[in-house]
Amino acid sequence: MNEPAPPKQINRLLDGVRKFQQKAFPERSELFSELASGQDPHTLFITCADSRISPGLITQTDPGELFVCRNIGNVVPAYGEMMGGVSAVVEFACIGLNVSDIVVCGHSDCGAIKAILNPKQNGLERMPTVRSWLRNADAARSVVEVLHPELEGEALIQALVEQNVRTQLGHLRTHPSVAARMAQGTLRLHGWVYGIGSGSIATLDETTGQMVPLT
Ligand SMILES: [Zn+2]
Repeated sequence: MNEPAPPKQINRLLDGVRKFQQKAFPERSELFSELASGQDPHTLFITCADSRISPGLITQTDPGELFVCRNIGNVVPAYGEMMGGVSAVVEFACIGLNVSDIVVCGHSDCGAIKAILNPKQNGLERMPTVRSWLRNADAARSVVEVLHPELEGEALIQALVEQNVRTQLGHLRTHPSVAARMAQGTLRLHGWVYGIGSGSIATLDETTGQMVPLT
């Protein structure tokens, strides 16, 4: 009996791998042979798992430059809250890889942020793990509720996306490996918000606390 044909989605991936091996890889063979024996990324890039974000594409960086951590809502649990994957990535990036920069990158139309604002409408009660994970962004929601009670719709989503980046940067600073490197003056933290429909990046100005479009 013949095997059923693989669905077209996986064919899309397999075709892509073939293209990569036949074209993209040979074109950059020098880079890949350099990378074969180790990595020396300069930046830890923490962003949402959202499929519309491609860190290498939006920063136009090569393989080997970004140490990437992705999860729902670009969340960094405060130190000691959840000693899991994110905490280990942060520690390894700061101590093992000695990165000079950490970017926390939120994005427009973030499903996690929409779920925080409307848990029922977004089916959060059927996803207890997601619901529990997003508690790490509760502080962001509280801040927005107090500072911007007038906001609704898209403006409210965007405000919470931005505040969540500030909140997660705050959580990052509670990690001993981050605190130590910052005390030495050898690590910089950056807050970004990526606009999916516009390709824009806004960066957090630490002195004013405002997001400023990168031009
Ligand atoms: Zn998202």
